[in-house]
Amino acid sequence: MSARPDVERHVESACPLDCPDACSLDVTVAGGRVVAVGGSDTNPVTRGFICAKVRRYPEHLYGPSRLTHPGIRTGRKGEGAFRRASWDEALALVAEKMLAVRREVGGEAILPVSYGGSNGYLSQDTTDARLFYRLGASRLLRTVCAAPSGRAAMGLYGKMPGVAYQDYAHAKLVVVWGMNPSVSGIHLVPYILAAQKNGARVVVVDPRRTRLADGADLHLALRPGTDLPVALSVIRWLFESGRADRAFLARQARGAEELERRAAPWTFERAAAESGVPAKDLEAFARLYAETSPAALRCGWGPERNRNGGSAIAAILALPAVAGKFGVRGGGYTLSNSGAWKEIDGMAAAGEPEPATRAVNMNRVGAALAERGAGRVALLFVYNANPLMTLPEQQRVRAGLEREDLFTVVFDPILTDTARYADVVLPAATFLERTELSRGYGAFVLQRADAVIEPYGEARPNHAVFAELCRRTGVARPGDPESAEEIERVLLGSSRRGPALASALARDRIAYLEEGASPVPFVDVFPRTPDRKIDLVPEALDREAPRGLYHYEPESARGRFPLALISPATDRTISSTLGELHRAPVPLGIHPQDARARGLRDGDRIRVFNDLGSVACRARLDERLRPGVVFLPKGLWSHNTDSGTTANALSPDTLTDLAGGACFNDARVEVERLPA
Ligand code: SF4
Repeated sequence: MSARPDVERHVESACPLDCPDACSLDVTVAGGRVVAVGGSDTNPVTRGFICAKVRRYPEHLYGPSRLTHPGIRTGRKGEGAFRRASWDEALALVAEKMLAVRREVGGEAILPVSYGGSNGYLSQDTTDARLFYRLGASRLLRTVCAAPSGRAAMGLYGKMPGVAYQDYAHAKLVVVWGMNPSVSGIHLVPYILAAQKNGARVVVVDPRRTRLADGADLHLALRPGTDLPVALSVIRWLFESGRADRAFLARQARGAEELERRAAPWTFERAAAESGVPAKDLEAFARLYAETSPAALRCGWGPERNRNGGSAIAAILALPAVAGKFGVRGGGYTLSNSGAWKEIDGMAAAGEPEPATRAVNMNRVGAALAERGAGRVALLFVYNANPLMTLPEQQRVRAGLEREDLFTVVFDPILTDTARYADVVLPAATFLERTELSRGYGAFVLQRADAVIEPYGEARPNHAVFAELCRRTGVARPGDPESAEEIERVLLGSSRRGPALASALARDRIAYLEEGASPVPFVDVFPRTPDRKIDLVPEALDREAPRGLYHYEPESARGRFPLALISPATDRTISSTLGELHRAPVPLGIHPQDARARGLRDGDRIRVFNDLGSVACRARLDERLRPGVVFLPKGLWSHNTDSGTTANALSPDTLTDLAGGACFNDARVEVERLPA
């Protein structure tokens, strides 16, 4: 390290943001400030390059939206006006409010709201969980993303590790279903391109023609929410045409006959009528899938975001089992690999079992904040999240945040749209300003990174602030792990490989699964179900889904709102993180045919609306969409539209068939021109 502040130094780090790839980073520091963030070669999967989003991280660290000191509200809620406060004053006020609420209304009137602002082990489920558990607060069900797919994967495969990114290069067929790796989880793309170079065929299943779809052999542009019939029609054909690998199913799976029975009604013609994909294309896909090996299927999170989402993911994940695609490098599926690290108990540092207090589904935070009487939320504590911009029924969430009788704390590095409604804002340290231990949920890596710089302004790490709140509310106990080192020791200690992981991290900053960096399903890793078999119709899932697993609930009549709104990720934000840097107005994508029917031209000022709310923005004619589908990206902030509302103002808070997930893609809307 240089003693001269103007001399640059390079520091190794790792990205813990909500992205599967877990890049290792090369951070350039000069004068005590981060001046550039790039990729390092430590993580062999991400191979020295990173996304354009995180390359802008220095602007995130030092931009005008960065919170540099605690603040106490002086203006009206939503205005974002705060007076400067010391940490002592702010934490004393928060602790006093917590104790008062617990005393006067009960602990469950406290609602913590957190999600994937950081996926690092040290920034959630440690001292924060301890504080809220011991206060008897309500529990948040983190269901806004990946809950239905996680439930399906757990039911069928016990969250078996999937195909490693690197092994896509070995595939002869790559299926990308409901995901756009060109903007999110970008490190898969070079492996797909390498496979293509070696002659692999590519199929993309997506309502939009994504960049990968441009170069694909087949693009199935299905209607949003119809992934389930499409997958079931392929399963039916595999069984009926004798292409199902019955020997594999007999050996390695349970429930094949029942799955066959449930898929039987789904002819290609019937699936085509639901999905809008021609029956001949469905058959072409089924044949290609049956006849090509190794076949790697990348399943994204798009198919889960509708009323049939859990069953859709289960049916997609059943495909490689039915077609016998496992047991060879590059064969199988990839969903989330977060479960690959389940040997580490992420809750170990909470030091407390989860209490049986009220559970609040985060897709219904708006409804929870509207409750009166016994269920009233009196104190909302937001961290690692921006619920106003990321949760369904945005106007209901906003109405809740506007409640004068709600005391809201927001602990974040940035003055987010949600933070503008806070009574107290607390500045959080970013991952470059503290120690972090994080794992990929695409790449099979565990990485440890020390702070690269001192926290900017008065920012503090999550674990330190929640530990202090434990002390101030009187729930701290002697021996609680509080420092980063203590928490890390407990987390690694929860794994039987703890000492080996600790020494690998100390030596290399990176550690791999016991089975290596790229285990092959059904060679190196097997289903983590009790009998190590795939359970194609798990009883628990069948009981949970309101009308049974694999039941397709058709769309109700669209009536006044004939257009399906989708809100996928873009190359600008990670969910809503870094949204303060994306200042430009964002238009609604609409197919020229739909625009013509409404007399709209490119660039017109428009209103997208339904019974839940409306968004005012510009129209952009987009031939890449299938007709009947409009597109407004997820992760927008209020400054991106004329109305300050985003796609979530149009999203219902209805829930998926499994795990209470979000149904963003069930939003149905109409579009009209606004006066110029
Ligand atoms: S967001 Fe993803 S691609 Fe970007 S730096 Fe982080 S891990 Fe890498």
